[in-house]
Amino acid sequence: MSDQHSQSSAVDAVIVGAGFSGLYLMHRLRGLGFSTRVFEAGTDVGGTWYWNRYPGARCDVESMQYSYSFSEELQQEWDWSERFSAQPEILEYAQHVADRFDLRRDIDFETTVTGAQFDEAQRRWNVETDKGERLSARFFIMATGCISTAQIPDFEGLSDYRGATYHTGHWPHEGVDFTGQRIAVIGTGSSGIQAIPVVAEQAAHVTVFQRTPNYSLPSQNGPMTEDYARSWKDNYTALREEQRHTAKGNIRELNNESALKVTEERRAEMYQKRWDIGGAAFLSSFNDLLVDRDANETAAEFVRDQIRSIVKNPAMAELLAAKDYPIGTKRICIDSGYFETYNRDNVELVDINDTPIERMTPDGLNTSGRSFEFDSIVFATGFDAMTGTLYKVDIQGRDGATLPRKWAAGPRTYLGLMTKDFPNLFMITGPGSPSVLSNMMVSIEQHVDLVTDCIVHMRDKDLALMEPTLEAEDYWVDHVNEVAHTTLFPLAASWYMGANIPGKPRIFMPYIGGVGRYRKICNDVVADDYRGFRFEADTAQAAAAAE
Ligand code: NAP
Repeated sequence: MSDQHSQSSAVDAVIVGAGFSGLYLMHRLRGLGFSTRVFEAGTDVGGTWYWNRYPGARCDVESMQYSYSFSEELQQEWDWSERFSAQPEILEYAQHVADRFDLRRDIDFETTVTGAQFDEAQRRWNVETDKGERLSARFFIMATGCISTAQIPDFEGLSDYRGATYHTGHWPHEGVDFTGQRIAVIGTGSSGIQAIPVVAEQAAHVTVFQRTPNYSLPSQNGPMTEDYARSWKDNYTALREEQRHTAKGNIRELNNESALKVTEERRAEMYQKRWDIGGAAFLSSFNDLLVDRDANETAAEFVRDQIRSIVKNPAMAELLAAKDYPIGTKRICIDSGYFETYNRDNVELVDINDTPIERMTPDGLNTSGRSFEFDSIVFATGFDAMTGTLYKVDIQGRDGATLPRKWAAGPRTYLGLMTKDFPNLFMITGPGSPSVLSNMMVSIEQHVDLVTDCIVHMRDKDLALMEPTLEAEDYWVDHVNEVAHTTLFPLAASWYMGANIPGKPRIFMPYIGGVGRYRKICNDVVADDYRGFRFEADTAQAAAAAE
């Protein structure tokens, strides 16, 4: 199957994106003798960690767990400096991986894939880039990440504003000096919550515009200790394997008790313990927090009380305390001093439910009843998640099928990996896989290994095309939906549900059944002769073999 020459216009696989998915996928495929071309819009590797350079950007999964497991040498030789790493260090890690495994030579940087059409006769994908290059690939693989299409709301008068504007997901590489400036931050999701404390330290004044308050837990971040790093490195083989079979791809102890079946003292003690440990472990304090509304409320109220004790202005504390949706059903935020920031004299909070933003003006913005002036506006307004980036490429499958048309009522995939009518198109951590509900590193490695297995299977069996059946796809879409509705997640207007994008269908997009369960399903599918997929033989290979 291999089209040998690199930099060729005919390759085995075109991979879009040189983030953690694209890098590992290229490494795997190349190691198995497949020719690959990777196209990356940025000037360097790193994906999300290349683009999201806003002040305070940091991973909310511990670095000993948020790192590749595929190379024992790599995981032993790399040292993290903090428990939760900041963006520059994670980017440095991605760069190190690219260099260490000599990946850069097959990556075209500053190149965007604009279109890909499936050629039925050739049984290949014709791929086009914004540099005018056209190439043919047997496999077309979107390794574009789930949260990579930045979203700035269509505020009236936006183009009138004369100051500087920034989106957290497209931060200038040279950094921004806010010293002495009056800043607006719009949005209080994970990005805003990380950026606001750092911006407030620099700027003269920060006004935060909040639509929905978010639950945020302290990271309790600190320097990596030698002992802690050792405890992982000495046991990495077993610990990585354990990660792969957990619910979220993270090893954190679930307390297997119901929050409603323990005493109030026990509950408070458990929440306080987890709060003090830091990070998302808090959500595993009890086994029913994400499935029972009353249980969830006990955790939510604990967090609200923490906010009330941190934020000195009681009215502000109430505004910051989320009340309208269960804790954990929007992506939990992990912060470093977020609520404390509201005790600063130079930070103001504006509730835009009470006084909505009416329009941008040349000098700032108007809410109902008040006019604000700003030197810069920071949009921490999120992303068109999971589908936005897939839709940006003009992908045409069989008979001109497109993803936006096919998925008009919500994404339709089998295993979040493939979608019918788009043969040999793979999505790494696509909608319908655990993806954003998990430690992405674990899910990325699993999907890359799965895609690689599929491609090797096809090479071994002289198969040209792979595609899910309609029945398998229907089954999976129903299953993803059904499992989501056994939890409290659909109760929140979250980006998991597409709720942050006007007009986007409200469907719970990721698979919430758990990383371990999902892995088992995938392994069973493969063991059962790729149940739910149909293949077409490579007739050219078969004819050549017959001669
Ligand atoms: P987000 O969670 O979608 O938050 C966007 C914020 O902007 C929300 O507060 C939202 O309010 C607000 N917003 C959106 N449209 C608005 C409008 N028209 N008017 C006013 N406010 C508006 O986006 P994000 O903070 O960039 O985070 C996205 C995801 O990226 C996270 O959930 C996480 O998965 C990932 N992330 C991870 C890390 C990390 O590892 N630490 C850091 C950053 C991001 P509503 O809630 O009312 O819609």
